[in-house]
Amino acid sequence: MTETIINASAHEHADLIPVRMCNELVYCPRLFHLEHVQGVFRHSADTIEGKGQHERAKRRGSRLRVIDDEPAAASTIDDLFALLPRRLALVSERLGIRGEIDLVEVHDGSVVVVEAKRGRAPRTDAHRWGPYELPVRAWPADLAQVVLYMALLRDHGLPCDQARLVYRGSHESVVVAWSDHLERFVHAVIAQARAVALCEHAPAPLVDSPKCPGCSLHDVCLPDEHNALLAEQAARAAPPQPDASRDPALPPAATGDADATNTAPQTLEDHEALAVAIGVPANAPVRRIVTGLEPRSVVHVLTPGSTVRKDGDALVVEDRRGGIERFVLPEVAHLALFGPVHVTQPCVQHLLRQGVAISHHTGAGRLLGTTAPLLTRNVGLRRAQFRVVDDPQACLEIARALVVAKIRNQRTVLRRHRRGLAVISDAVLGGDLPHWAGGPDPQVADARRDAQGAVAEALGRMQHALAAATRAVEVDRLRGHEGDAAACYFGALPAILPAAWRGELRGRSRRPPQDRINAMLSFGYALLVRDAVAACGRVGLDPMLGVFHTMIPGRPALALDLMEPLRAAWVDTAVLRLIATAGIVRDDFHCSLAGVELSDAGRRAMIRAYERRGDEQTTHPRFGYRMSYRRLLELEVRILAKVFAGELRHYTPMWTR
Ligand code: SF4
Repeated sequence: MTETIINASAHEHADLIPVRMCNELVYCPRLFHLEHVQGVFRHSADTIEGKGQHERAKRRGSRLRVIDDEPAAASTIDDLFALLPRRLALVSERLGIRGEIDLVEVHDGSVVVVEAKRGRAPRTDAHRWGPYELPVRAWPADLAQVVLYMALLRDHGLPCDQARLVYRGSHESVVVAWSDHLERFVHAVIAQARAVALCEHAPAPLVDSPKCPGCSLHDVCLPDEHNALLAEQAARAAPPQPDASRDPALPPAATGDADATNTAPQTLEDHEALAVAIGVPANAPVRRIVTGLEPRSVVHVLTPGSTVRKDGDALVVEDRRGGIERFVLPEVAHLALFGPVHVTQPCVQHLLRQGVAISHHTGAGRLLGTTAPLLTRNVGLRRAQFRVVDDPQACLEIARALVVAKIRNQRTVLRRHRRGLAVISDAVLGGDLPHWAGGPDPQVADARRDAQGAVAEALGRMQHALAAATRAVEVDRLRGHEGDAAACYFGALPAILPAAWRGELRGRSRRPPQDRINAMLSFGYALLVRDAVAACGRVGLDPMLGVFHTMIPGRPALALDLMEPLRAAWVDTAVLRLIATAGIVRDDFHCSLAGVELSDAGRRAMIRAYERRGDEQTTHPRFGYRMSYRRLLELEVRILAKVFAGELRHYTPMWTR
């Protein structure tokens, strides 16, 4: 029987902790918090392999046997061995853990835990976790896992002194013998897991750790991005003062791989002090761990009366005439339904289980609502969001950053297309023709001068609005500056359109749009709202609670805030390219006295242009690696979540150059 080290009353506030999660804790305390507390989970090659092993073990085992908390009497152990299945699910209230063991073997009257791992065994046996030396040729996380299994078996009265770790990558088998030292180690792991589980916010990310590239949650955690932004902010802020109120018994706010027993930094100052303490330079390079491409895609169903259903591993869309389209289910990131489309309940349930949201749009594209999975249980993040939204000064600072980024990106679109205007006009003018060819057409030359003059004037006025927005001390004034810049931008847009479309745009109009360009913009913005709402849901933020847009019922204010910097860079650019490449024609619209809307062909063309732009790669100016606009949107949401959670001080949205 093991010595009672853990106080059972501590479980009042915490569930039993799965042994698998203790393995994650030893690997990285932040990973444990993300998975166990926040409920974020992604499969990696290791977890997929582990799942396969569990499935095989389930099939192989005679049955799943749950041994309850009653220790077996010594006299019954022989009987128990005779009945023992090869796979066990064990719980221990006393230890505060539960676990499923895939394989146990009985040798000479003793139970041996067998655990297979996909990777290679370490080259040395010199490991440690916090103060614990671990002289075993096994990774500390794997060691914790098998020793905890042994502790569970022993807690149920079964004689278990040995475990075997099989590393399939290097074809090696490592024997782990039970010892008092290892027992103390796993009790410390459990105590640490319980402490981290009770923290509202996650521990700091590791610094430049080789563990991060192999971590299944690196694109959620963003360790290098987090540390780089934190170091920048710490460098800008006054040097942090030691906090006299801090309990000296708390673990030091240090990180890196030697931080195994660290819990979460308590305050933003802790985070910044940490960045200084670990010496992350303000311009530290950021490893491209985050994948720049989203391998999955959005399925849009536009034909009224269609039915969407699941057929094996395929998502099937069938229209009323019997036309069928099939999509590979694991490659579907989102299902977007326009107008009256039917989805079968088994299909809805499957998509929700896979973490895929369904958005419901009107035929004209307006987002009506979403059916989203309960992906995150990170209530702490939402509470932090509510607290920030209740703070006018904090809202102003974030809103200012959003508006500044929006105006900068609008100016970039005008500048880029002004350059294009010069090139196209030169070709039309025949600027490279010899002198005897007649010289440039004076009318075209005048038009070009007018267009370039209009763009130049708008750029100048937008620069003033940008400067004023940077200094705005009230959100209402900020809205005024944003409106001024938008008026200049939309006033100058006709100048960069092809001549045939130039007369179309008469300022921004919506609900309903009054011209063809506005119809395309409105439709594109509706798609962007949908993607921003979905990104908020994935990150665990409430899309209805924003910092800049006024909160009125039915309006996803935070999603609208977040899409501001991306409107011009993503949607407006998609529209300009669609027009410039003749991807849409004037007949692709329905015009009436009420307004203008896209026809079915027009919506399909616009969706293609939007998705193409979303998949295009851009270089992040701070992090220096390339990523798609779709991926960028999620990155922005995750960084804002860090600001809400108090992990970062400032929010600086990305702007294009
Ligand atoms: S990416 Fe690195 S810091 Fe973040 S959870 Fe994974 S191992 Fe920990």
